[in-house]
Amino acid sequence: MFAERLERVRVAMGERGVDVLLLSAGADLPWLCGYEAMPLERLTLLVVPREGDAHLLVPHLEAPRVVERPGVFELVTWRDGEDAVALAAGLVGSVDTAAFGDQAWAGFLVDLLAELPGTSFARASVVTAPLRMVKDAAEVEALRRAAAAVDRILADVQAGRVALAGRTEAEVAAEIGQRILDEGHRKVNFTIVASGPNAASPHHEAGDRVISEGEGVLFDIGGTMDGDDGVGYCSDITRCVHLSEPPVAFAELYDVLEAAQAAGVAAATVGTPCEDVDAAARRVIDDAGYGEFFVHRTGHGIGVEAHEHPNIVVGNDLELVAGHAFSIEPGIYVPGTWGARLEDIVVAAADGPDPLNTIDHGLAVLG
Ligand code: ZN
Ligand code: ZN
Repeated sequence: MFAERLERVRVAMGERGVDVLLLSAGADLPWLCGYEAMPLERLTLLVVPREGDAHLLVPHLEAPRVVERPGVFELVTWRDGEDAVALAAGLVGSVDTAAFGDQAWAGFLVDLLAELPGTSFARASVVTAPLRMVKDAAEVEALRRAAAAVDRILADVQAGRVALAGRTEAEVAAEIGQRILDEGHRKVNFTIVASGPNAASPHHEAGDRVISEGEGVLFDIGGTMDGDDGVGYCSDITRCVHLSEPPVAFAELYDVLEAAQAAGVAAATVGTPCEDVDAAARRVIDDAGYGEFFVHRTGHGIGVEAHEHPNIVVGNDLELVAGHAFSIEPGIYVPGTWGARLEDIVVAAADGPDPLNTIDHGLAVLG
C-alpha cells in the first residue's frame, strides 16, 4: 500500500514539476510511509526524489521506532553532534524545485534554504493534498470504524447514560475523552462540551461552567483511531441535547438546523462542486432568517488529519469524486443566548452520499 502511494506521489511530482519531496513532522509522512516523526528539535526528513531511492533520515536514538519498509525508503540515521541539515542537503542534491512539508518546523526550512541556495521551494501539499483527499476503500473503512465509535458515545449521551446536570463541562469532557480511548481511539483530538450560552462559541473549550436543568448542551468530539495500515484516521461528530423541554424558539432553531444539515448531506453527490454543497445547507438557514448566525463553512475534509482538504466552503469549485470524505456541520449561534451544530462525516460515493455517522439527528430531550 505504501509503495503504491509512493508511486502515485511520484506521478504527481512529475505533473507539478517537483524534483524532490521533503516530509518531516505532519500527517503527510505517516500517510506516505507509515512513520510518524517526533515533533521535536532533532530533524526527521523523508527525502523522495522523483526517480531513485527515497531515504528516511532520523535521529539515531529514534531509529528503533522505525518500521523498515524495503521498497519504500532506506533508513539513514544521524547522531548528536552531526550536522543533520547538511546530511539532508546531501540527500537532496542539486535540484530546481523541492516541496517541503506544510507542517514541518519552519526552522528546518530556513536552514535548508541556506544549504540549497539554488533550489526553489513549494508546499508539499501541492503534491500530497489532492492524493490524500481521495480515500481508498481501506481508508473509508477506517473512517467508518472511528465514526461508529464516537456514534456509540454520543448515543449514550442522547439516551441520558452520561450524567450532565450539576457537573462542570470539564468533568463531562474528561469522561467523554476517556470513552473515546475506551472505544479504541489512539488519542483524543477534542472534546467540546458547551452548555447554555457557551454553545454560541463554535470552538468553545470545556470549562468550569456547571451544566444546569433547562439548557442545551453541544457535544463535538473526535479522536484518532489506527486503521489496518497502522496509520491513524480521525472521527468527528456533533450532537446537541437539551435538559428538559427546550423553549419554543430553540426548538424552532434546531428544526432549521436539522433540515439544513440533511440538505447538505443530500447535496454531497459525486460531481457536485464543494461550494454548492455549502450553499445547499446555507440556503435553508438563510431562508429561515438565521443566516447571520451561521458563521463558518459547512464542512472540512477528514482523514489522517481531523481537518484536511476538501473544504466545503464558498469559493471551492472542486467537484466531489468518489472517496472524498468530509464533514457536513452547519451551526446556528446566537451570541450570549444559545447555539447548536449538527455534524456527520460523509463520504462521496458512486451511489450517493454515504454518511458514516448514523445516530439520531434530533435534539435529544433529557429528563
Ligand atoms: Zn466537529
Ligand atoms: Zn468537524
